[in-house]
Amino acid sequence: MKILVTGGLGYIGAHTSVLLIEQGHQVIILDNLENSSLRVLDGIASITNQRPLFYQTDLRDRKAVVEIFNKHTDIDGVIHFAAYKAVGESVEQPLKYYDNNINGLIALLECLIPQEIPLIFSSSCTVYGQADRMPIDETSPMKKAASPYGYTKQIGENIIQDCALANSSFKAILLRYFNPIGAHATAQIGETPNGEPQNLIPYLTQAVAGKRTELRIFGDDYDTPDGTCIRDYIHVMDLAAAHLESLLYLHEGKNSSACECFNVGTGKGNSVLEVVKTFEKSTQKKVPYSIVARRPGDIVQAYADTHKIEKAMGWKAQYSLAEALQSAWKWEVHSAHLEAQ
Ligand code: NAD
Ligand code: UDP
Repeated sequence: MKILVTGGLGYIGAHTSVLLIEQGHQVIILDNLENSSLRVLDGIASITNQRPLFYQTDLRDRKAVVEIFNKHTDIDGVIHFAAYKAVGESVEQPLKYYDNNINGLIALLECLIPQEIPLIFSSSCTVYGQADRMPIDETSPMKKAASPYGYTKQIGENIIQDCALANSSFKAILLRYFNPIGAHATAQIGETPNGEPQNLIPYLTQAVAGKRTELRIFGDDYDTPDGTCIRDYIHVMDLAAAHLESLLYLHEGKNSSACECFNVGTGKGNSVLEVVKTFEKSTQKKVPYSIVARRPGDIVQAYADTHKIEKAMGWKAQYSLAEALQSAWKWEVHSAHLEAQ
């Protein structure tokens, strides 16, 4: 297949591009480099021995996006990662998020729909908020979004569903990711947060590497077995595979409706302290940490029921938490070398 990957130089996009190329597909990457760099393209090339065609383009630049589609009239599918993703920043600058995440999606849909190109959309488990039942299945209702970022995912899903209803030949899959972590086994690509990491794993690895004084664990007085919050941490290469399976599923006409949503997680919940212990055991590195106050807005627990995607596509997470954490650590060490160069 020939696949356009928007945001293909970002964290999840780069890992997915590698997997697609390794599986013999042709990848075209569109990214404005706002949260990535050309070094990632080098990483993809060094892993796969192929340099994918790359357009440094902003998705909201309709003219430029139309030109790309006019130039490539044989695109078999689009995987849409390009968006802003920082929850806290979205609270401070909501318009920035609504503009990019919604207008970028609309610009893309305007090209896809007339050409009947299938879409895989990066959604998030944030659409569920604090679900009433664990594990969370896809019938769990959307709760009011806790941030403008989360709301852009809910709106994005609704826009795509409406388009699928209005255009019988347009097909889409909404993938609701749980917590993506880890890096490619070669450590040529990985997660590179801008400034101080907001997410647990990059903060943890930076604390172990000595870039941060210590990991601050946000609260140990939650109603969970050890008092810390529970999440479903999924290896980014497992997540990448879910995108390829989704495209194949649509191409083989296995979909039961024009627009379907699927959870992508491991199905297992792990607490923050379990993550710390698993990291220490699997890397033999001590994690400096202290318990601090709860972080406002954190939900207590979220882990996926993954039966729907397993049954429909035969996809199941393959990597363990320990393997994902080892790969994150390997990337932390390797990226320090890259920075030093
Ligand atoms: P990322 O920031 O690493 O990657 C996004 C990429 O898109 C970046 O390379 C950025 O430069 C590019 N981009 C942003 N706006 C663009 C625009 N207007 N035009 C062109 N390129 C643009 O993020 P990620 O972690 O790889 O996330 C990918 C997608 O998955 C996002 O939609 C995100 O909301 C979603 N998601 C991420 C997580 C997570 O924890 N990482 C969880 C759930 C959902
Ligand atoms: N967390 C933490 N310290 C940090 C970052 C995160 O204790 O520096 C906790 C956070 O409270 C949550 C879990 O780790 O319980 C996962 O947080 P992350 O921001 O990675 O993902 P999300 O909250 O979006 O699920």
